[in-house]
Amino acid sequence: MTKKLKISFINCVLDTTIFQATIASKVPTARGRNSAWFLNASLLHFKTYYELYSPEFSDNVEWHQVLPTENYVETYVDQIVENQSDWLFVGMYIWTQPGLAKIVKEVKKKLPNLKVMVGGPEVEHKDYAWLNERDWITYACYGDGYNFVKYILDCHFTNKKPSIDETENALWIEDGAIVKAPHKIFKDKKFYSIALWWHNRKIVREWFNWAKDQGLTIIVNYEASRGCPYHCSFCDWTSGLHNKVTFWGLFPIFKDLAFFGQEDIRYLKLCDANFGQVPRDMDMTKFWGMVRKKYPKVICPWEITWSKLQKERVYEIFDYMLEHKFDGDPENANLITWTLSFQDVDKSVLDAIDRPEIPWEKHKEYIHNIQAKYPDLQLVTELISGMPNQTPQSMLDTQYEVLTCNVRTRWYLWMYLPNSPVGNKEYREKIGVKVLNLKVPSDTLTRPPTQDDLEDFPICISYIKGMQTAIDNFKVAVWLKQFYSGYHSSMLTDFLDLALAWFQTPGASEVWQVVAKKCEDLIQGKTRDAFFYTSVYTVDMWSFMAKTMVMSLELMPEESIYTGATYEQKRDKLLELILQPVTIPDYEVEENSEYSILNEV
Ligand code: SF4
Repeated sequence: MTKKLKISFINCVLDTTIFQATIASKVPTARGRNSAWFLNASLLHFKTYYELYSPEFSDNVEWHQVLPTENYVETYVDQIVENQSDWLFVGMYIWTQPGLAKIVKEVKKKLPNLKVMVGGPEVEHKDYAWLNERDWITYACYGDGYNFVKYILDCHFTNKKPSIDETENALWIEDGAIVKAPHKIFKDKKFYSIALWWHNRKIVREWFNWAKDQGLTIIVNYEASRGCPYHCSFCDWTSGLHNKVTFWGLFPIFKDLAFFGQEDIRYLKLCDANFGQVPRDMDMTKFWGMVRKKYPKVICPWEITWSKLQKERVYEIFDYMLEHKFDGDPENANLITWTLSFQDVDKSVLDAIDRPEIPWEKHKEYIHNIQAKYPDLQLVTELISGMPNQTPQSMLDTQYEVLTCNVRTRWYLWMYLPNSPVGNKEYREKIGVKVLNLKVPSDTLTRPPTQDDLEDFPICISYIKGMQTAIDNFKVAVWLKQFYSGYHSSMLTDFLDLALAWFQTPGASEVWQVVAKKCEDLIQGKTRDAFFYTSVYTVDMWSFMAKTMVMSLELMPEESIYTGATYEQKRDKLLELILQPVTIPDYEVEENSEYSILNEV
C-alpha cells in the first residue's frame, strides 16, 4: 500500500486581535461571546480541487487541520510533529507572517524533511527576492494556487521533478536562483458550483464538534465571490494581480448556509470585497433569512464588507437583515455592531487613494434613514490615517462628521502591503507617500520585547503636505485612536467637549507630551520604539487607555467650559492642545539599538 501523503494546514489566524478573541480571553466579553475560532476554508479548497481533478491520487492524501490551541507556538508545532506531516501549507497575511515563520522553523527542527508551501497576499510577486531570506519555504504560490498545488502533488505521486515551465502562479529557488512561473487568472465553473463546506461535511463536522467540546464559538469565514473590481491604494485584494470578480454558484451557497444552520453555527464572517454589488446578493440574503427563521440563533453576520458604489442595494439588503434581526437572536438582540468602512469622508483624500465611494452627503442620507427606522442600531466605521491630503483639521472634521451621524470610529494606521498599488515606488511618488519600517514584537504577548522578537511592521505616511503635516497627522491619529475607541457613539455626541475636558484632567497634558514626543520621533526616524507602538495599537491598547487616557465622566464640568463656542472654535482649541510643542527633553537613545533606527523601505 502506498504511504499516504500527510498535509497539515495552519489556517488559524494568529493576529493579536483574533488571538485574543480565540485563546487569550476566556472571559465572555460585553458582547456576550466566548472565545472564538475564525475558521477558513483553505484546506477544503485544495482538498476538493485535488479530488476533482486528480482522483487517481487523491485517496493517497491525508488532510490535517491544525487546531487553535493555547500556547500556539509550541502546541501547533506539537500537532504537526505528532501528525508526522510531510507538507505544511500556510497562508501568509500581514498579521500572521512573523508568528508563522517561528512555528515553521520550530517544526523543521523536528521534521527536517517537511516541505512548506506558502500562499496568500503576503507572497510578494513584484519584488520576490524576499524568498532568498526565507529558507524555510519550499514553494511559494502567488495568486490562486489550485493548479499549482495539483501540479506539485501530481509530481510527488509520479516521482517527477517539478518544472517551472509546466505550471503557473509559483515561485521557488532552483540551483540558487529564484524561478517564477507566469500568472494566470483561475476560472473553473465546475469548481465554483461545489458547496465546499457541505461537500466536505464529514471533516467540517469534526472541526465543529472539536470547537464545541473546547467551548469555542465558531466564526466561519465565508466567500460568496472572489476578487474586487477596484484598486484602492492601500489594498492587496487578489494580491493586486487582477480586478476580475468570480462568483460562487448560488445553489452551492444555499447548501452551505443551510448546513451552517443545521450545525448551529453562530457567526458567519462574509469575506466578499463588495457585498451588495450584484442583484443576486439580495437572493442570498433572503435565503440566509429563511435559514435563520428555521434556526433562529444561527449565522449572525459577524462582519460584512459592503459594495462601495451600489449603495441602493446595500441599504436594501441591510434593511432586510435588520428587519429580520440578523444581528441577534430572539433572546439576545444586537449581538453585533455593524461596520461601514469609509476610510475617510473627505473626497480629496478618497480621490488621492483611488477609493470609489458615493458622495458623503448621499451616504449620510442613507445612514440617517436606516437609523430612523432602527434607533438601536450600533454602527462603527473604519478610518485610515496617513493618507494623502489629510491634515490634522480634516481628520478631526472626519471624526466629527462620523460621530454626529451616531457612528463610532475605529482609526487604523495605513499598513504597508507590498502587493497593493502603493507597493510600487513610482505610484508612491505620484501620490506623495513614503513607507516607514517600524519594528514591533512578533509575539505581542512577550513583554518587554527582545531584539530577537522584533519584526518589520511597515506603515505608510503621506508627506504630500510636508514633513510637519505628516508628524501632526500621526499625532492626531494616535490621539484619536487612544481617546475614542473605547466609547460608544452615544457618549460622543458632544465629543469635542469631552476631548477638551480630558486635557483639563490632572496629568493629562504631561502624559500627552510623552506620547507626542514618541510620535515625533517615530515619524522623524529617530526611534522604532516597538514597545510604545504595540502598546498603543495592539493588545495593550485598552490597558494603556485605562491608565492614561480614559477620564471619569464625573470629571467633566456640568456646564462645559466650552459652552457657547462654535464647532470650529472647539476644534481649533483641541488641535492646539494636541499639536502643542513638545517640551520634554530627548530620550537617551542607545547606540546601535534595534529601537534606534528607522529605515525607509
Ligand atoms: S479596499 Fe478597495 S480594492 Fe480593496 S477590496 Fe475594498 S474596494 Fe476592493
